[in-house]
Amino acid sequence: MAIEEISKNALTVLEKRYLGKDENGNVLESVEDMFRRVSDTIAAVDANYDTSTNTRAQSDEFYELMTDLKFLPNSPTLMNAGRALGQLSACFVLPVEDSMEGIFDSVKNAALIHKSGGGTGFSFSRLRQSGSAVRSTGGVASGPVSFMKVFNAATEAVKQGGTRRGANMGVLRIDHPDILDFINCKANNSEITNFNISVGITEAFMEAVEKQSDYDLIDPKTKQAVGHLSAEKVFDMIVDHAWRNGEPGIIFLDRLNRDNVTPSQGEIESTNPCGEQPLLPYESCNLGSINLVKMLRKTLTGYELDFRLLGETVEKAVHFLDNVIDANNYPLEKISETTRASRKIGLGVMGWADALLMQGIPYNSDEAVELAERVMRYINNTGHAASARLAEKRGTFPLFSVSTLKDGPAMRNATVSTIAPTGTLSIIGGCSSGVEPVFAYAFIRNIMDGTEMIEVNPVLMAKLKELGLYNDDVLKKIASEGTIAHCEEIPEEVRRVFVCSHDIKPIDHIKMQAAFQKYTDNAVSKTVNFPKEATRNEVRDVYLLAYKEGCKGVTIYRDGSREEQVLNIGKVN
Ligand code: ADP
Repeated sequence: MAIEEISKNALTVLEKRYLGKDENGNVLESVEDMFRRVSDTIAAVDANYDTSTNTRAQSDEFYELMTDLKFLPNSPTLMNAGRALGQLSACFVLPVEDSMEGIFDSVKNAALIHKSGGGTGFSFSRLRQSGSAVRSTGGVASGPVSFMKVFNAATEAVKQGGTRRGANMGVLRIDHPDILDFINCKANNSEITNFNISVGITEAFMEAVEKQSDYDLIDPKTKQAVGHLSAEKVFDMIVDHAWRNGEPGIIFLDRLNRDNVTPSQGEIESTNPCGEQPLLPYESCNLGSINLVKMLRKTLTGYELDFRLLGETVEKAVHFLDNVIDANNYPLEKISETTRASRKIGLGVMGWADALLMQGIPYNSDEAVELAERVMRYINNTGHAASARLAEKRGTFPLFSVSTLKDGPAMRNATVSTIAPTGTLSIIGGCSSGVEPVFAYAFIRNIMDGTEMIEVNPVLMAKLKELGLYNDDVLKKIASEGTIAHCEEIPEEVRRVFVCSHDIKPIDHIKMQAAFQKYTDNAVSKTVNFPKEATRNEVRDVYLLAYKEGCKGVTIYRDGSREEQVLNIGKVN
């Protein structure tokens, strides 16, 4: 079967990093070969559970799922399935113990994961604070931030030879004595560039912010209070830094742990690099995303979501992702054991904004938020039912009987749903990314190696053609602004629907994030975009709203606040 719809941009990305090459860099695989390599490898797992399985037929099912661009597994699965490396997960969390051995073991393990295209999250909260004693040498400890620089340098070095550039999340608890250093550690845009950083916020801290009281700083070794700070001042400092350049984000640690299904295995301290996947130390998770544009069916007046097709797709995707856990070649034995004990998977969506456009629903409307809840509730429920059916055939995840799920239906997977950013998958799928609104209707995308790709949103393109407005003048106007809000040639009712990130108020970004979070086991990757002229107070309000609305974290970005952006409005030549 041929894939008719792979775009030129998608081909560029695939040829660069996904398709098999010989040692001279010549591409050996077609896109169809790649999908067949993946579907054969993932389908072969079925024979482990049932020797009478027709793995060829199963491979055909998975192949179609991917080549129809209905569902795509995360990048490492596409890159590595059926290849020597065989590492299939996007997300890992590694512990960082408070010892030289511990720290450098973690650096090494992260390097192995990066080499295979995975991203790593770490909490540095266990490291003793700077200035505290080092018993064996009589010296003083240099603290979490100085060690983050070591992880950063290692990531930089692996970049050269790896499949992807390597990405990290660094978390520090709000009550760590080095928290001010941490909040400040990326104030300079050129520092610690291979990390996203998030402050791990506790409910106690949020209460202290509300009451305008002080909170205690805790020595990670002795667990004793060693100082205190004004909660409001620290909160404002986080807001100020995020306003300046988008860092740090925040994650709500108590919420992540409230949803920790296997608390007997430890506490959740960190997420993966983009924040959507909280994990225990040494856990990994493979993600996959359903393209909602492909879940639409035509009606007399337009399009609507086909829930029957969505349900079938969820069922197949859960089967696929559960198989990935077994087909995976883990970078460490300990990761293999921990991952197989909980069998977490993260099924989510992409193309949400495009699907709304096709249905004529503005992203920033109550109707869109209600539909988001309905879609995600359906995916989550259907996904859990699919996991339960797999448990009947294959057994529950090994920790099921000690998990918080033990009194409910038997489950094959400790978690089922996650909303990933789908940075690359959405390019392959030719749709808007994750649950983000359309960033700009025409823009230049910078990809690895400094290559630039020009893109025009395909749904708008079709609409303009339908209206007879697809011409150079209109396109130039849109390209110079990204938004069509001021394009008077385009009818008002079209402009009302085709809103982009910058036309959407931050509060509406959060409402959408919260709607998806409500029915997502793990977390939602989402950036709240602010216009350049937004104030610190507006950022502060959004942080507080995210807390109130039940989000698990927030990431914000104010336009123009970092020199080098991945996406640029108005730079089309
Ligand atoms: P993709 O679309 O390529 O599958 P996403 O943009 O959805 O990936 O990101 C999902 C997760 O994959 C991230 O949160 C992170 O854990 C990992 N990841 C993304 N980009 C990188 C990278 N360049 N290097 C390492 N890991 C990455």
